[in-house]
Amino acid sequence: MLICIDNGPLTLTETSPPLNSILDRLQTSPIIEMFGIAEKMRAERLELFDFSIGEPDFDTPEHICNAGKAAIDAGDTRYTAADGSQALKSAIRRKFKRDNDLDYPEDQIVIGNGAKPLLASATQVVVGEGDEVIYSTPSWPSHVGMIHLTGGRPVPLQTGIENAFKITPEQLASAMTPRSRMLLLCSPSNPTGAVYSEAELRALSAVLLEYPRVWVLSDDLYEHIVFRGARFSTIAHAEPRLAQRTLTVNGVSKCYAMTGWRIGYAGGPKPWIDGLRKLFSQVNGGPSSISQAAAIAALDGPQSFLKEWAEVYSRRRDIALAHLDEAPGIRSATPDGAFYVMPNCAGVLGGRTSAGKCIESSSDFARYLLEDYHVVVVPGPAFDCDPYLRISIATSDEVINAGIGRVVDACRALR
Ligand code: PLP
Repeated sequence: MLICIDNGPLTLTETSPPLNSILDRLQTSPIIEMFGIAEKMRAERLELFDFSIGEPDFDTPEHICNAGKAAIDAGDTRYTAADGSQALKSAIRRKFKRDNDLDYPEDQIVIGNGAKPLLASATQVVVGEGDEVIYSTPSWPSHVGMIHLTGGRPVPLQTGIENAFKITPEQLASAMTPRSRMLLLCSPSNPTGAVYSEAELRALSAVLLEYPRVWVLSDDLYEHIVFRGARFSTIAHAEPRLAQRTLTVNGVSKCYAMTGWRIGYAGGPKPWIDGLRKLFSQVNGGPSSISQAAAIAALDGPQSFLKEWAEVYSRRRDIALAHLDEAPGIRSATPDGAFYVMPNCAGVLGGRTSAGKCIESSSDFARYLLEDYHVVVVPGPAFDCDPYLRISIATSDEVINAGIGRVVDACRALR
């Protein structure tokens, strides 16, 4: 007999078994409604200018794909250790030495199924119920979700265009309490593109050195997407005295255009790494053996294309900013890295569309851009900030020229 499960509407009735109440701590993304509209428009075959996507538009380089294929052909298709293969750990050790001047022994390196679950597990290892985690807003929604899942308390520090989206040592010091357990840093940042210089990291470190019971989680996923004039630095290198309580997290998704391969990794102090390993031994099988072979090719292979790609993103950023400068009511900071621009749209609030609708928030503005101009951007509330928009520049120059040109038209058309 075929048993047909109709998922039906997603509502729980009084007689259904309950879900874990921990889910109540998570916010459903405020942008879902907008993406629903975008989906409908796509189904009607309308051309959309999509700036919502957080992944490179480059293909995974051929030599990396070939390494994955070779792994399949060689029968390298079995479980690896739950925290990753020895061969990839060795490649990661070489990478940390070469790019970051950090020497993590292989037993202080773990590999996860992408950086996202690794960051979530890393947070779980050091943050408990009621512990406070400090981070900056605008923030990547998953960073906040990870904190909530531990029962920890998010302590957001507000940044904006005025301070180039970077927290100051004074802000950090004033957020510290006896419950502070972790600082989460993300540079280059998703969603703002802010990049902390080595000097800025040292200034934050000076505060952290006063608080020895605070761990530091450094999300370095966009390391190689840094534009001229800025330099990537990571806090365990900027202040070696913090290395004993810093987890340096990286991955191949963003920089090597390998989002679908799902490989993230971390180097750090033994207790944190051992905690992760213990957690992984129960809840993770090792990452895909094929993807691990491809990641070795990424980390050990030619690196020159990384700079070329960064140049491409930098050019696109300039195109986007040149248009946004023309848009009445919009102000932008110049991002130094990643592939996002985060303009402030305070100046369009209160404006009326040709249909007479008043724009009262960045969500209203994003909806107006979508419905009237077919431009998809992500409004600020998704990143815990308002009134901002996140515009991804991981798309072609043509789309940026045409689509951001439409944003300018949309601003000009407001009354
Ligand atoms: N960290 C940041 C800042 C990100 O933007 C993302 C993905 O959007 C991740 C981590 C997750 O990376 P992965 O694809 O390796 O899970």
